[in-house]
Amino acid sequence: MLKLYFFLLGTILASFAGLAAFRLGTGQSPWSPGRSYCDHCQQRLAPWQLIPICGYLLQGGRCRYCQTPLPIFYPLSELLTGGAALVLCHTLSLYSAGTLLVLTSLVFLASTDHFYQFIYPAALIGLFPLGLLFRAACPGGWWPALVLFAILLLFVLLFRSLGWGDLEFLTVLLLALGWYPTALVLLTACLLTIIVNFHAPPPRHGRVPFMPELAFATGIIMLVMSPA
Ligand SMILES: [Zn+2]
Repeated sequence: MLKLYFFLLGTILASFAGLAAFRLGTGQSPWSPGRSYCDHCQQRLAPWQLIPICGYLLQGGRCRYCQTPLPIFYPLSELLTGGAALVLCHTLSLYSAGTLLVLTSLVFLASTDHFYQFIYPAALIGLFPLGLLFRAACPGGWWPALVLFAILLLFVLLFRSLGWGDLEFLTVLLLALGWYPTALVLLTACLLTIIVNFHAPPPRHGRVPFMPELAFATGIIMLVMSPA
């Protein structure tokens, strides 16, 4: 029963994080208007349309009023966050609270990058429980971390294939988790990006959002390194 509670809580937190990210990007407050509306036809949504995952499925993935396709990003992030919360959280504890905070921050960071190609650095604060909950022993101490940071900085400054937001995110992971899990997150995110964009046309704005893949890869590493 507690597992189901954590799953539902994960979906609700992801739903709120995605909505807050979308509203902040358009200059609105995350809290108002109180009721959500369709971004296309501005029709206010009924409470059942706002239920995480179910609202999307019951509408067949389209706005009930104007038939505009709804972003798959929302139900997908809700399902993944709920699933991660279900697996990672067992008891009402500080560990579960920290895990939920990290997952919510990951969804928020991934959402702003997905919708607007930027991140709010303040949202990175939510990742710091990672250091307390999932830190692994990293061979070599701090030197490999410094080398990895220098390589990432090079990719930002010289090749411009990595954004400043991605570098900030990876630096927080280096500080919180150490170099070894961070390198695994980076590798997993690169593989995911290749798979996701394999058949995609080149981006119009010249940049592919990397944070959704980084966030998803961090979730996978959390599952792998889970103490339970
Ligand atoms: Zn609509």
